[in-house]
Amino acid sequence: MKKPLSRNFCLSCTAKKRGCCVGYYISLTMKDIKNIEKLGYQLEKVITAQDFTKAELDGCHGWQDNAILINKKYYTITLRKKNDVCIFLSHKQGCLLGKNRPLECKTYPFWLNKKNQIIYQDRYCYMLKHKIPVKQGLTIMGESEKEVRSYFKEIRNDYLKNQKKQKAIILNLLKK
Ligand code: SF4
Ligand code: SF4
Repeated sequence: MKKPLSRNFCLSCTAKKRGCCVGYYISLTMKDIKNIEKLGYQLEKVITAQDFTKAELDGCHGWQDNAILINKKYYTITLRKKNDVCIFLSHKQGCLLGKNRPLECKTYPFWLNKKNQIIYQDRYCYMLKHKIPVKQGLTIMGESEKEVRSYFKEIRNDYLKNQKKQKAIILNLLKK
């Protein structure tokens, strides 16, 4: 989401306790983790190691490059949630991370499918429900096709490059 809670669609969506910041696991690249650290947050308080089954990973459009296999379970580093809502979501101020929110949040609700086409990743997205074409949805969110493709590439490259670092952080989180 480019400007969380700044659009009518997003307000309606979040009011129904859905939306990008509710219900989803937000996976973090190393760049995202460093950004959060720079803002002064204590990492263990805001991130967690979330486990997924192979079926769950196969069933989502999301990333698999960051899923680390440990003791027969797949883990990714995600933002913590409270009552299923991202801990950084303020209903008055929107996203408390602002421009430092994770790359995955920046690209939401859009994603690239296997045919390299931009699609709505979030089936609950109000724009999808209201049959807003992706092109128009991008304009509403203040995004361009080029930006979404570049976020996608950046996320993927970060995950592929940093699997060892991600694994070390996950092992550390699992010890706590
Ligand atoms: S899912 Fe769609 S409508 Fe809902 S908050 Fe995200 S971008 Fe806005
Ligand atoms: S980091 Fe911000 S944009 Fe991302 S899910 Fe949390 S509140 Fe929403």
